[in-house]
Amino acid sequence: MTTTPAVDAHYDYVIIGAGSGNSIPTEDFDDKSIAIVEKDKFGGTCMNVGCIPTKMYVYAADVALAARESERLNISTEYHGADWSGIVDRVFANRIDKIAEGGEAYRRGDETPNITVYDQHASFVGPKTIKTGQGAEEKVISGDTIIVATGSRPSIPPVIADSGVPYHTNEDIMRLPEQPKRLAILGGGFIAMEFAHVFEALGTEVTVVNRSPLLRPIDSDISERFNKLAAERYTTHVGRLVTEFSGDENEVTLTLDDGTEITADALLVATGRTPNGDQMNLDAAGIEMREDGRIKVDEFGRTTAEGVWALGDVSSPFQLKHVANAETRKVRHNILNPDDMEPMPHDLVPSAIFTHPQIAAVGLTEELARSAGFDLTVKVQNYGDVAYGWAMEDDTGIVKLIADKKSGRLLGAHFMGPQAATLIQQVITIMAFDLDVRTVATKQYWIHPALPEVTENALLGLEFNED
Ligand SMILES: Cc1cc2nc3c(=O)[nH]c(=O)nc-3n(C[C@H](O)[C@H](O)[C@H](O)COP(=O)(O)OP(=O)(O)OC[C@H]3O[C@@H](n4cnc5c(N)ncnc54)[C@H](O)[C@@H]3O)c2cc1C
Repeated sequence: MTTTPAVDAHYDYVIIGAGSGNSIPTEDFDDKSIAIVEKDKFGGTCMNVGCIPTKMYVYAADVALAARESERLNISTEYHGADWSGIVDRVFANRIDKIAEGGEAYRRGDETPNITVYDQHASFVGPKTIKTGQGAEEKVISGDTIIVATGSRPSIPPVIADSGVPYHTNEDIMRLPEQPKRLAILGGGFIAMEFAHVFEALGTEVTVVNRSPLLRPIDSDISERFNKLAAERYTTHVGRLVTEFSGDENEVTLTLDDGTEITADALLVATGRTPNGDQMNLDAAGIEMREDGRIKVDEFGRTTAEGVWALGDVSSPFQLKHVANAETRKVRHNILNPDDMEPMPHDLVPSAIFTHPQIAAVGLTEELARSAGFDLTVKVQNYGDVAYGWAMEDDTGIVKLIADKKSGRLLGAHFMGPQAATLIQQVITIMAFDLDVRTVATKQYWIHPALPEVTENALLGLEFNED
């Protein structure tokens, strides 16, 4: 039998992870004692190595690509390359790092005197009790309520980890000392495709290796078109496995199962993410995990241990920041209002992929809607069908809407093209407010000749039963 070690400090609340977890303490908690345990930087994945810095790189990449491709608009420009270290400094030194440091300083400072920050890894040693730090710095702390918000980390296939070959992930690729001339990317999900766009647009030769088609889970009309476009920009090896890795800091070589050899200056591994619960000795606290590695939570965010909650990537079925934020708000509400709890908001979760072309989706794919047995009406509208699409000379953008003929409700929307993540927001509103598509296109003005006309036309193109 294991015994729980003596406790050094007890708090009303212990929050583990200062990504989304750092947003739990609002003024409602001012009279409560709180410990925040964060082993790395405040702000977590999204702020430091995820959503925000990647999009700052993507925006620069979009501008570079626009300059490279401006000839088709009869504009003569030349792309002379990127000031890589200037971009790294602008993104990190000038902005991201300051925000992360400021966030930690705020929690350590006089403005939140009820909060104590611990900066070492936390793992459970007993019910509602954790150990953080090692050796002389080790502290055991407990809480009446514990919130686990420890996120996820890059999954590294053992074949790479065991090879000893140097590789990069989203955690360090944006801070490389130099822009690589040749980059090999392993993976075909959204992180892989965003970085492929960034590096290729900035002038790196990009080779992508993935065991299945790129962006496989998205609607097949979009993924088929995207795969064709990706193959025009990158050297792609889809449906292939890497059998051997070799190389050093200067050069890596990947051998594929068809014998192809790929040599690059750097290797980026983007093959999925593992929730971090497995590193926290959850058994000691009676916290169960699901088979897929996420912490098991009920609809309100409660784990299997009384008084312990989880949110975000460590437990959520969606590894998205807007979902982690929404879960944070619900967990905060449920902790403060135990007699009036609200379920996690997991309906109609939209997502976007900031690659090129940009992709965004909400609701069901056509395949899923068909297998769910709906009587469907589907409309695919090209950006090139509307005036603003002509202005952009766009010949790849599409909007695909899927609706239920019977109810007149949208079931899914899939956008690929310029500003897809922004354009789709109108459809998210239509779905969130359960508006009837048969009236929504005609009951409002659509500014002419703006890009949302492509959405208007797609809505008008859906065919419903007469009655
Ligand atoms: C490259 C990339 C791009 C992305 N782009 C987008 C995007 O455009 N849009 C979007 O919605 N989502 C995006 N995401 C996903 C998004 O970043 C995550 O869904 C979100 O950050 C999860 O938040 P979280 O609070 O659950 O975890 P995190 O933000 O990861 O916070 C967890 C924190 O816990 C700390 N921690 C972990 N274990 C311990 C421990 N045992 N003890 C102490 N501290 C610990 C970590 O250091 C970390 O700071 C992206 C992710 C990546 C990797």
